[in-house]
Amino acid sequence: MTEEARLRELICTLAKSLFDRGLTHGSTGNISARTSDGGLLVSPTGTSFGRLDPSRLSRFDAEGRHVSGGKPTKEMPLHSAFYDTRSQAGAVVHLHSCHAVAWSMMPDVDEDDFLPPLTPYAIMQLGRVKLLPFFRPGDPAMGDAVRGLAGKRSAVMLANHGPVVAGKDVEAACNAIEELEATARLAMLTCGCRPHLLKGAQIQDIVTTFNVEWEA
Ligand SMILES: [Zn+2]
Repeated sequence: MTEEARLRELICTLAKSLFDRGLTHGSTGNISARTSDGGLLVSPTGTSFGRLDPSRLSRFDAEGRHVSGGKPTKEMPLHSAFYDTRSQAGAVVHLHSCHAVAWSMMPDVDEDDFLPPLTPYAIMQLGRVKLLPFFRPGDPAMGDAVRGLAGKRSAVMLANHGPVVAGKDVEAACNAIEELEATARLAMLTCGCRPHLLKGAQIQDIVTTFNVEWEA
């Protein structure tokens, strides 16, 4: 199997795993990954994460031309914004995951630091998550909002919509977006219960030890 064939299989396997565990539903969610020739593989528009076909993924060449496969997701500007501003991005995943969406609707959520410091893993895998305002699905302004962050964030939350996470490869991006959803779930479960949060010095220790991008 070629390197690209393996990547195609991996994208579809991970997407199905996310779908099977209810992290996104119906035909929601989209995923993309860099190929070794500088191109991109992208989930086609209107497809379900439960049934992605490795041979039908949209393929772009290194110049950004669509060369084969289905029509790409309409959220392409969102994916491009991460690749254009973060040279280290090897994959981007977007979900409509229930608890993250619920948390984005809560009053008093810090838009500059969307997830409360409940466990170390979200800090280690996501850094500080930016909450972006609501945009109509497919609105290119979403991409502009991500570009406005100048590559300083690997994860954003689209209010009343869903999270978007970039990672060094497709596995890292999927693991990190799962961590975002798990932390939002904890936040919803403990909401109003005054949970013990990690303290500033503990957060700083994690940031330093694990070399986290922790944009102030
Ligand atoms: Zn969406």
